[in-house]
Amino acid sequence: MAKQNHLHCSFCGRGRVEVKILIAGQEGHICEDCVEHAQDIINLELNGIAPKQSFPTATNNQKINIRKPTEIKKFLDEYVIGQDEAKKVLAVAVYNHFKRIAQKQQQNDVEIEKSNIIMVGETGTGKTLLAKSIARMLNVPFAIVDATVFTEAGYVGEDVESMLTRLLQNCDYDVAAAERGIVYVDELDKIARKNDNPSITRDVSGEGVQQGLLKMLEGTEVLVPPQGGRKHPEQKMIKVDTKNILFICGGAFDGVDKIIARRINTNAIGFNVNKEEQEMQRKNLLQFINAQDLKNFGLIPELLGRLPIVTHLNPLDAETLRNILTEPKNSLIKQFTKLFEIENIQLKIDNEALDFMVHKALEYKLGARGLRSICESILTDAMFELPGTNQSELHLTLDYAQKKFNKSKINILKVA
Ligand code: ADP
Repeated sequence: MAKQNHLHCSFCGRGRVEVKILIAGQEGHICEDCVEHAQDIINLELNGIAPKQSFPTATNNQKINIRKPTEIKKFLDEYVIGQDEAKKVLAVAVYNHFKRIAQKQQQNDVEIEKSNIIMVGETGTGKTLLAKSIARMLNVPFAIVDATVFTEAGYVGEDVESMLTRLLQNCDYDVAAAERGIVYVDELDKIARKNDNPSITRDVSGEGVQQGLLKMLEGTEVLVPPQGGRKHPEQKMIKVDTKNILFICGGAFDGVDKIIARRINTNAIGFNVNKEEQEMQRKNLLQFINAQDLKNFGLIPELLGRLPIVTHLNPLDAETLRNILTEPKNSLIKQFTKLFEIENIQLKIDNEALDFMVHKALEYKLGARGLRSICESILTDAMFELPGTNQSELHLTLDYAQKKFNKSKINILKVA
């Protein structure tokens, strides 16, 4: 028996206890998952049939790609520039989330609580991108929902349960897969309680929605309308258990920096650091955010209790924007280079032209999201004119970038 425990799959390396079946060959073994994988390869190579995308289900949890936190961060580094703190916090939270799921299956006594997350940061700093990248890495169903579309039951709007509709739709209504998915709830700050506004007697879109979210975040069986929207009696519902769904919430929480400043004695922040550093810290007060600040902003304590992890994203400076343009695996510049390459045109971009784009994104306060429109405004003419000509190179100089940019409509976006 002891010898049996040393057996492992010769393909994926997992041990006897980690797999259901080990089929013995002359010199090695193969597990059920590798057999399936081999079958996919045979189908693809011999019959041209691509394997169905497989999401992890309740019974085949081996397919969840659980990587160590350092590996998760490394993966995120390929797609998201900077934001190291948020990446670290997310990596640990996601790792613990899946450890928690695994542990439950072993019927252990100590119950680890869900690690739902709140990310606070200006719009366009990479919150959605982080959540999306995590889901991509884990190969689990993922849905982005906007908290502003939900209203308390009985009012015009959508029921909070309909956020799970999106998740179900994204995995072809595979309930078991959806039950291990990730939901990114954007604009959480927009459902903050607005108590200080005396004209609002009933906070339809704020506190009521927060209350509606509570059970779902904690983990409960929810009846989900398959087509979304409002639940109505004749509709057939799909039952989804949310206890293993990870909820990541994001929001800009405009004005929370003043709440943070009030909480901490701003003079004390920079204790032991030089003046420059102090100024930096004052500028980015978000780094000191905690649940108390979010409560003061208008999130109810019960909701915060179910979103125990709070992290922040830094505003994007020129250097980060410059890196966003060129470094990620599918960076904008790489994408445009590819588009020209397909036309057999080599795109050559001067550093000064790149700096110009970054400068404009900052000047127009467009953030990373604006980089695309800036690139488009500069390159659209060439993308229109060059295909079909003999030109084999496009040299994007500062002068070229300036001319095209000044001609474009993007100028009207300039913030006063
Ligand atoms: P948020 O959710 O914070 O409003 P997003 O994640 O939707 O912002 O970012 C908008 C776009 O800007 C992304 O699609 C991405 O192209 C780019 N972007 C923003 N922040 C980063 C970052 N830190 N690294 C790489 N790209 C980024």
